[in-house]
Amino acid sequence: MSEIPDSMQAVVCHGPEDYRLTEVPVPVPGPGEALVRVEAVGICASDLKCYHGATKFWGDAQRAAYVETPVTPGHEFVGRVVALDETAAERWGVSVGDRVTSEQIVPCWECRYCLRGQYHMCAPHAIYGFKRRTPGAMASYMIFPAGALVHKISADLPPAQAAFVEPLSCALHAVERADPTFDDVVVVAGCGPIGLGMIAGARARFPRKVVALDMAPDKLALALRCGADEAINIAETDVVAAIMDLTGGYGADVYLEGTGHPSAVGQGLNVLRKQGTFVEYSVFGSDVSVDWTIISDDKELDVLGAHLGPHTWPAAVRMLESGVLPLDDICTHQLPLADFQRGLDLVGSGKESVKVSLIPE
Ligand SMILES: [Zn+2]
Ligand SMILES: [Zn+2]
Repeated sequence: MSEIPDSMQAVVCHGPEDYRLTEVPVPVPGPGEALVRVEAVGICASDLKCYHGATKFWGDAQRAAYVETPVTPGHEFVGRVVALDETAAERWGVSVGDRVTSEQIVPCWECRYCLRGQYHMCAPHAIYGFKRRTPGAMASYMIFPAGALVHKISADLPPAQAAFVEPLSCALHAVERADPTFDDVVVVAGCGPIGLGMIAGARARFPRKVVALDMAPDKLALALRCGADEAINIAETDVVAAIMDLTGGYGADVYLEGTGHPSAVGQGLNVLRKQGTFVEYSVFGSDVSVDWTIISDDKELDVLGAHLGPHTWPAAVRMLESGVLPLDDICTHQLPLADFQRGLDLVGSGKESVKVSLIPE
C-alpha cells in the first residue's frame, strides 16, 4: 500500500497531565492483525480521569497505579481498514476500505473470564489507550490486534457519530444488567453520552416509563428526543417526591446511574422502590458514602455494577444505523487531533458539550 506514510501524528500520554502531540512511526501490522486509518475518536470521561491521573484500574489482578506509559489514548473510534492479511480478513469478514470499529477491550481468550464468555472481565484487561500492547486511536493509524472483536459499521454515518458506538454499547450493557420488564419505571441519572444511550436502550425495552434526570435544560431536551417520557431537572424539582408521584408512592423499579457524581448514588437509593434494581455504570473521582441500611433492611435492593459493553456491539451498531438517535445533537464537537487539549477541557467543563471527538488528519 504505497499511500501509507512512514510517520504520523499521535497523542502520547507520558503521565498525568503530560499528553504530547508527537510524530511517531506508523505501526506495521503483524500476522493476523489489521492496520486501520482512524476517522474519529471520542473523548470519554475515563480519558479525562486518566488525564488528571486519577485512573486506578485495569491492572492484571489488582487496580494498577496508573495506565502503562507511554501510550496513545483513545478507545472510542471508527476507521478504515488499510492493510490486513488473509487470516485477519477471514476472521473478521472485512476487507481493505471497510468502515470498521473494534470493541474497546482486546480479550486474551485464555483466562477464566474469556473462557466463560465474560470477555469484558478479561484478566489482563487490554483496553485500547490504557495498555502499551494496545495503543489507542488518538493517532492517524492504529493496529487491531489478532484478538480484537471487530465490527463493520455503515460508511453513511459521519465518523464522529459512528464512533458513538462505544459509549452506546456500554449504555446498552447497563440496561441489560438491569433487565427492565415491560411494567417498569426506569430512571436514568445523567444525560451525558452514557445516560442518553441508557435512555435509548431502556426505550427499546418498551417499559412503562423512562424518566431522565439532569441539571442542564438542553440535555434534558435531548433526553426526550432519545426516548425519555419525562425529563426532570434536579436543580428545580424535588426528585424523590416527583418519582413517588409518578409511581403511586412506591418508587422507581430501576435506577441507572450514569453521572459519576456521588450525590446521584444516594439519590438512586432514595427513589427506588423496595426490591428495586440499581445499576452503577459511572467512574467516580472519589469514594461515595451512603446508608447501606437502605439496601438491606429498608428495601432489599439489587445493586449491580456494569463495565464495558459485552455482546451489545451489534445492537449498538444497529441502533446507530437505524437513525433513532439525534446524533447531530449528541455529537456536539469535532476537533482536529492537534486540539486534543481543548477537547479534554470541553469534556471537563461538561457544560457546552455532549460528545467531543477528535478527527486525525
Ligand atoms: Zn469510553
Ligand atoms: Zn481473558
